[in-house]
Amino acid sequence: MRVARALGTLPRLAQALARGELSYSKVRALTRVATPETEERLLKVGKAGTALHVERIVRAWRYVDRQAEIRNTAERHRSRALHVYQDEDGMVVVRGRLEPEAGAVLMQALAAARETLYARRRPTADVPAGTSRDAAITDDLPSWGQQQADALTLIAETALRQGLDPGAPAERYQVVVHVDAAVLADPEAPGQAVVEGTRVSAETAQRLACDASRVVMRHDAGGDITEVSARTRTIPPAIRRALHHRDQGCRFPGCGSRFGQGHHIKHWAHGGPTTLSNLATLCRRHHRAVHEEGYQIERKADGELVFRWPTGLMLAVVPPPPTILDAVDMLRAQDDALGLPIDAHTSTPSWLGEQLDLDYAISVLHPFACRPSERVN
Ligand SMILES: [Zn+2]
Ligand SMILES: [Zn+2]
Repeated sequence: MRVARALGTLPRLAQALARGELSYSKVRALTRVATPETEERLLKVGKAGTALHVERIVRAWRYVDRQAEIRNTAERHRSRALHVYQDEDGMVVVRGRLEPEAGAVLMQALAAARETLYARRRPTADVPAGTSRDAAITDDLPSWGQQQADALTLIAETALRQGLDPGAPAERYQVVVHVDAAVLADPEAPGQAVVEGTRVSAETAQRLACDASRVVMRHDAGGDITEVSARTRTIPPAIRRALHHRDQGCRFPGCGSRFGQGHHIKHWAHGGPTTLSNLATLCRRHHRAVHEEGYQIERKADGELVFRWPTGLMLAVVPPPPTILDAVDMLRAQDDALGLPIDAHTSTPSWLGEQLDLDYAISVLHPFACRPSERVN
């Protein structure tokens, strides 16, 4: 898959592979480093050298790349900036560059703030789609950009009110759910769940409670708080690490998102344990699909996950492969049709047995390497 994706931007290498001039192992190595700019010269390396030569040159190339990457990271760090200034019409303009990890924290905070502000506006389980109230809600939903602006304001206000201590990493994203205990355990039960002042559906409350630091405040029928629990994490750090290691991102068929939340297959409010066998990683979108949109997930006795459509039909893990009757005959016929005479010598390198001078090869091939004449010993 990696090689196929890389070849999408490397037409010359793709063609050489298609014409049988480069072996797959050479192409696999070359696509680790080749870019559209360096493709041409790396193609020559592939045609001239043996697979071992190509491997060694690629390894040295990546070393030079890593050194450049270290310099780039330092440069990126220096280039971080945030400019906030007032425009002529009085609006405040925000423009900046953040390092990836700082940006991730900002985006996560924006997403959490948007959810807090606008989750209630989305159609919820108790408002059937298509009713007039539903339509009105959808109509006046602010645009994405407006929601982002409101979210940033909320973040700033929250920071000023609560102080600027980020706390331990796992505690940065805390959700306070006020919930009627019966609702958390059973979405059909009368009662309500409120996220920091916003009424949410029971399904949403369950999703938020699935993986969060939580402070649960129980209310009696009159709305008075009867009990406030200590803050706990629904998924302790050690289990979260193991979960992340096992799942490597969202498990929903065909998703592939690397960012995920822990989902309790049987919810903890229903007595489901926080164990690896009862947990699965789902991205934000598919976590919502499972809790709020009726998709189902279960784990079979052999540990495999099964996903179902809201209708109960099983979701295929991967689409079935096309039927190929005789792969070799088909490939030969295709090659003949394209006028490709591929034989045992098509991929033989032009190498004549001379020694590979790796230092020299890299110094003339790699765009960032210093030339031998510039080298200081
Ligand atoms: Zn969940
Ligand atoms: Zn997903």
